[in-house]
Amino acid sequence: MRDNHLHTHHSFDSDAAFRDYLDHYDGELVTTEHFDLSNPFSKRDDIPDYDAYSAEIAELNQHYDNRIKKGIEIGYYQPREADIIAFLADKDYDLKLLSVHHNGVNDYLDAEVADMDRHTLMMDYLGRLEHAIGRVEADVLAHFDYGFRLFEMTVEELKVYEAQLRHIFQKMIDHNLAFELNSKSMYLYGHEHLYLYALDLVQELGCKRYSVGSDGHKLEHFQLKFDRIQDILNDYGIEEGELV
Ligand SMILES: [Zn+2]
Ligand SMILES: [Zn+2]
Repeated sequence: MRDNHLHTHHSFDSDAAFRDYLDHYDGELVTTEHFDLSNPFSKRDDIPDYDAYSAEIAELNQHYDNRIKKGIEIGYYQPREADIIAFLADKDYDLKLLSVHHNGVNDYLDAEVADMDRHTLMMDYLGRLEHAIGRVEADVLAHFDYGFRLFEMTVEELKVYEAQLRHIFQKMIDHNLAFELNSKSMYLYGHEHLYLYALDLVQELGCKRYSVGSDGHKLEHFQLKFDRIQDILNDYGIEEGELV
């Protein structure tokens, strides 16, 4: 099972080298580098250098049997939509993730987000996520829980937002985006139970496209808990052919 969410030094927040992953795994590798405009975390536009990225992959592919594919994690932010679309227009990626990482003021992992009113934050984040779907071309809806990753939440507490989640997942399906099982959210942020609940919803809505990603920024997190994820896929009857 390919890890469909992975970062290297081509992302602003990772120092990993392709070889870190290549030398520990003999299958296909795709990295999904951060593209975050107006990023409040770094206070700048974080844009992966496409030429440097492509050149490094082309060079490595000669030694590693063409095992490396190109990818990007598009951090959608509505006020910069035109710039996002313009950047992507002449680039060729094998895999595009769609994410909402920030609201223009805070990245949702900023410590001060933990002190914000949770209901206000949830309504705002889920609205942004729903809006983002379909605005730019992508293959995967990444970490649906990013806006509330910092929160400990029960399924009952998340169910308050079930109507919004159903709209988001229906839109995801309508736009042929895959639902991502993000193992960092599930096992480093303790949200496995929320993902199982979301899986129930997307399956009820007829989802047939799934993606599994570690969201690793270093070797230690590459394919994080993929054995456990495989058990979940089996439990839910999700077959290999439904994975992007
Ligand atoms: Zn992300
Ligand atoms: Zn990521």
